[in-house]
Amino acid sequence: MNDEPRESCGLFGIFGDPEAVQKTYFGLYSLQHRGQESAGIASSNGEFIQCYSGMGTVGRVFRSGSGLLENLANPMAIGHVRYSTAGSSIPINNQPLLSEYSHGQVAVAHNGNLVNAALLRDEYEAYGSIFKSTSDTEIIIHLLAKPTHLANFDPLAHVLNHLQGAYCLLFLFADRIEAARDPYGIRPLCIGRTEKGAYIVASETCGLDAVAAEFVREVEPGEIVTLDKNGLSSRFFVSPGSVTPAHCIFEHIYFAKQNSTIFGENVHEFRKKLGRRLAIEHPADADTVIPVPDSGTSAAIGYAQQSKLPFEMGLVRSHYVGRTFISPDQKLRELDVKLKLAVVKEAVRGKRIVVVDDSIVRGTTTRGKIRELRAAGAKEIHMRVSCPPLRFPCFYGVDFPTKEELLANNRNLEQIREFLEVDSIGYMSLDGLLSCAAMLKDNYCTACWTGEYRIPVDVAVNKFTMEHYQTRMFDDIE
Ligand code: SF4
Repeated sequence: MNDEPRESCGLFGIFGDPEAVQKTYFGLYSLQHRGQESAGIASSNGEFIQCYSGMGTVGRVFRSGSGLLENLANPMAIGHVRYSTAGSSIPINNQPLLSEYSHGQVAVAHNGNLVNAALLRDEYEAYGSIFKSTSDTEIIIHLLAKPTHLANFDPLAHVLNHLQGAYCLLFLFADRIEAARDPYGIRPLCIGRTEKGAYIVASETCGLDAVAAEFVREVEPGEIVTLDKNGLSSRFFVSPGSVTPAHCIFEHIYFAKQNSTIFGENVHEFRKKLGRRLAIEHPADADTVIPVPDSGTSAAIGYAQQSKLPFEMGLVRSHYVGRTFISPDQKLRELDVKLKLAVVKEAVRGKRIVVVDDSIVRGTTTRGKIRELRAAGAKEIHMRVSCPPLRFPCFYGVDFPTKEELLANNRNLEQIREFLEVDSIGYMSLDGLLSCAAMLKDNYCTACWTGEYRIPVDVAVNKFTMEHYQTRMFDDIE
């Protein structure tokens, strides 16, 4: 519900289209669910890169009549929407990050989290490097600019081998776009092509749909694809197949848009499968099934189909408020959710209802909604959740609260049921979840349920790790 985990970012890039900037704008619009704190576009005319970014949603930053898109108009562009997972929600951390180094200009856009960011930054600062942001992305530019790295046969591939963690990256150089995905393929990244043959890279296929482009394929884990005047070319910075992927299965459960296909599978279909499996694992003696929209809707449809119960919209979401994590502050998020999810009294009054949600994080606002459903006259409330209880934080680009704040931390099922004030509770099993996925179970990251992190994390790397640098920056100013 409102205490949803928050995604880090969405990426979109396009080469060789006279309307590249306009299309980037539409692509980012469709990826807005991946981040609403800031938006930015960098474009190049082949010789010179321009960049503009601002705080807020895409529509707000590039508001109509501002002339910003017209000023940026160029045949190649990359864009970014952001939710901060490493580095604070402040303008200096907006992306794309545009910099100039000995080989010219480069703009970088990043989705994910580097687990060795603090270590690398300390190392560079010790040798005198100056950072202008508190985001982990800036470190990549420093790595790229280092003379010993530039002397390498393939500097970008060399640099990527220094990074640890989750990353999908877009680099806009004056004459080309390079897109890279980490060797574990944690976050999704796909390639598309417009009718006129311009190549696109986007976090999700919904970005391709938004500009009527066709899906070509996913960027492979450990792959760099280059979009330039010769079309599309590919190379690998780790041997293909040498690393077992760890795709974030939470993308399928919650983050990605229903009309997207990620990790080889449509998100809506996947969630319906989860719902059907959930109904088998945790049936309920009830009158109707209601979803927590929007991310719980597909699973609720599956649950209703499997259990042969009617599907009802007992909660409706206002789409004019933006996603609940529009504000990183808990108090504002709670207000947000009140505005956002309203109870349809007529749909729940006097009924025994099954409420299907995709996940429960802190649980406090879920409980608030349960109370509202009860006040609206629901006779019994049976909570069903289409993933297992979240018990561990994510270090790979999702802003979960601390372990202590997670509802399922140190609570058994009965204690969770009591906390939420529901008549029964049922969580999807991990085996059940993985049985719904298209790939072998080893191909997914499940660390937020198991605590088994495929990429070792030495220190707790989250947005607050990088905020240490921000505090220091501001202390220094004082
Ligand atoms: S820990 Fe959870 S949210 Fe983070 S990458 Fe793994 S599956 Fe995704």
